[in-house]
Amino acid sequence: MTYVVTENCIRCKYMDCVSVCPVDCFYEGENMLVIHPDECIDCGVCEPECPAEAIKPDTESGLEKWLGLNAEYAKVWPNITIKRDAPDDAKDWDGKPGKEELFSAEPGTGD
Ligand code: SF4
Ligand code: SF4
Repeated sequence: MTYVVTENCIRCKYMDCVSVCPVDCFYEGENMLVIHPDECIDCGVCEPECPAEAIKPDTESGLEKWLGLNAEYAKVWPNITIKRDAPDDAKDWDGKPGKEELFSAEPGTGD
């Protein structure tokens, strides 16, 4: 099992999650983060830290698509272990439907 970053991270990217992960398994895209499923030790510490409630255990149903996206982009995006400021408009995007269309495959800057 692993934890998975899902749709509501897109354009929120608060980054509270990265500072608590004991194995530094978050990877940064331009407008969301992902978890490397083979590196995550399933500790669950990050889940309650996410203000956007975007982190879910993969035991929840319907997350196959997001698990695939996390696995794919964790291989190509840079590692991120240090929390930076969230985007200025993060609050405006929190909870908005249809954010999947705004997903960017571009990498973030990493640490
Ligand atoms: S805390 Fe939540 S919204 Fe912020 S980067 Fe982590 S998963 Fe995304
Ligand atoms: S569940 Fe634990 S190991 Fe996995 S991403 Fe969250 S903090 Fe890191």
